[in-house]
Amino acid sequence: MALTIVRNDITKMHVDAIVNTTNEYFEVGGVGVDAGIHYAAGPGLKKALAEIGYCPVGSAVITDSFHITSCRYIIHTVGPVYWDGSNGEAEKLRSCYRSILSLARGKGCRSLAIPSISTGAYRYPKAEAYSIATSCIREFLLSLPDDEDMMVYLVLFDRDSVAVSEKVDSEVEQYIDEEYTYKKKADLHSHYKGNRSERRRGHNRPYDRDDILPSVRPYGKPVFMEEAVPDVSPAIPSDSIPVMSAPVPVAAPEAHSPDDRYRDVDLSFAEMCEWWCSEKGITKKEFYIQANINKAMFWNMKNNPRQIPKKTNALACVIGLRLDYDQAIDLLGRAGMTLSKYYETDRVVEDRIRKQMYDIDEINLELFDRDLALLGSYA
Ligand code: ADP
Repeated sequence: MALTIVRNDITKMHVDAIVNTTNEYFEVGGVGVDAGIHYAAGPGLKKALAEIGYCPVGSAVITDSFHITSCRYIIHTVGPVYWDGSNGEAEKLRSCYRSILSLARGKGCRSLAIPSISTGAYRYPKAEAYSIATSCIREFLLSLPDDEDMMVYLVLFDRDSVAVSEKVDSEVEQYIDEEYTYKKKADLHSHYKGNRSERRRGHNRPYDRDDILPSVRPYGKPVFMEEAVPDVSPAIPSDSIPVMSAPVPVAAPEAHSPDDRYRDVDLSFAEMCEWWCSEKGITKKEFYIQANINKAMFWNMKNNPRQIPKKTNALACVIGLRLDYDQAIDLLGRAGMTLSKYYETDRVVEDRIRKQMYDIDEINLELFDRDLALLGSYA
């Protein structure tokens, strides 16, 4: 029961269903998701859509995936064109996500890949569209009965799709990304221009099936101190060092305030997560959704207390439980971890904790922009 962001071409996602962005009469444009999907799926798709004929803005229809073998279904949705935000654009975009998710559920899909609807030709501002997408998906996941699960991938294509924060600092990834996007657009262009000689030479797809962007995401890059601080303490003559120091009085243990009760609780990491859930009135399901983890992963953690959770999952639990800094340090300590100012991921998370900004999707977007591993369960 998790949502994750990936950078990929949607036609390459191995999921039960992928989502296409189209228009009311399913006319295919020259670039964008629609063009890529039609090209990969082959002419059968065009025929199937011609039979359906029409789909209003905010709705969705479902078809077979034809030649796209990495998924079973294609869900086609019609996003709103963005004018100035005062024409019901947000509600229409929400309606797209709701229609897609309910169609996917109706077909028994366990995994689904959705592009950032309306943020291309339809010009929806990307940050707003991201926040609508994630809130609709979270709302949907929360509404599922306990015995149902779905893995939702929000597929972002080019760097521009996530340029919400300006803090992207990986030149290497930027390079790969721009090269990749450029190649894809150029290939699609040549396809729609009917570049037969290219195809005769064997370039009959815009990319190889295995040509997936590398997604090596480190947990966090260490942050190095700019320069060593010189030792300026005065030298002490050796004969002035006492042989034995005077006994230091031991301070009586500090009495914990009622708010600090958690410090005295003797529980493992996972048990402590449950303790915090009951303490804060968070249901298990809310916890899984807020932490972006799935039930199976949590149970595994709970049933194997000697197995140390992944740091990104441990941090996800801290966020899902809305812990303050001291509480977070206590919980992480139960799994032998802490928050270190020398690791970029930790610094991002600590900053959010201190600002009490616990939206896991916003945190993951920032980590994604910084080319770091995301929190919670993801592929
Ligand atoms: P819309 O018409 O709804 O705006 P577009 O297809 O023009 O739809 O673009 C929607 C988003 O999908 C854009 O952010 C675009 O960068 C991205 N995109 C384009 N091609 C692909 C692809 N092959 N896979 C995933 N996302 C894509």
